Amino acid sequence: MKLIKAEVLGYCMGVRRAVEMAYREADRVAAGPGDSRRVYTMGPLIHNPQVLEDLRRRGVAVLDEDALPGDLQDAVVIIRAHGITPTLEAELVMRGACLIDATCPKVKASQMKARALSEAGYRIFLAGERRHGEVIGIQGFAPGCIIVANREEAEAAAEKLFRGFGRSRDGDAPDSPKTALIAQTTLSPEEYQAIGEGIAKFFPQGEIVNTICKATRDRQDALKRLCAEVDAVIIAGGRESANTRRLLAIAQAQGRPAWLVESAADISGGLAGEIAAYPRVGLSAGASTPDGVIEAIEGALL
Ligand code: SF4
Repeated sequence: MKLIKAEVLGYCMGVRRAVEMAYREADRVAAGPGDSRRVYTMGPLIHNPQVLEDLRRRGVAVLDEDALPGDLQDAVVIIRAHGITPTLEAELVMRGACLIDATCPKVKASQMKARALSEAGYRIFLAGERRHGEVIGIQGFAPGCIIVANREEAEAAAEKLFRGFGRSRDGDAPDSPKTALIAQTTLSPEEYQAIGEGIAKFFPQGEIVNTICKATRDRQDALKRLCAEVDAVIIAGGRESANTRRLLAIAQAQGRPAWLVESAADISGGLAGEIAAYPRVGLSAGASTPDGVIEAIEGALL
């Protein structure tokens, strides 16, 4: 069996940076004589069980926003790549935590843009998954922003806002609100365009800000090219990772048998036999899959 890896796979810049910062901090505190501070991440650092378990073994605990300890005087808290709301940041500081900000610079740019537009009086639509950490974080920088998950929601929300200004679509629009649309960084350009079109039916002059990160698309495009060369595909990554599951769906949509594999241990008996039946097998990995996991899966396949 021939194994072919996707040209682009695994950690994106933001996730790699956050993971490296977390390990560096855990090592630094562990090595510091007399430094008894506890290291935490604000929520799970990434959607990868192996990394979370490894950090746990190194003494890095996960904080739950709904159950914050009252006193964080002796705590170092790492903010993950998705970022957090300014309210939560203030809460952590108020409780005494020393913060290490591992928010991805691209997510940070979205947060700053949302804040600037909000302060400039724009009504903001935020395209993305309501419960995703990044969306919740950005929402905190633009209080009152309207989250829309798809074109239908965008159109309905835009119409409601439009009607709220007491005008019909054919009427005068003397006091039309300034609107802006920004995106969760991992949204597909096609979804974003459809959402933008839904809003433009009511606010054709609305500003559309491009906050989509190319990392997701690069992995998806590389996988599509890979699918043209192979008979079956393995996607390495955590089952909780949305971008990993999306890669699996893309491989299947390309008509290739595909499996999501969290670790080399998953390549066992039955699955190993199934995979071996294909002469050319492709390997891709989600943006939160560590290099070591990819290498171990590669080793188990060969
Ligand atoms: S996908 Fe892009 S925006 Fe999101 S963490 Fe990775 S590099 Fe940053």
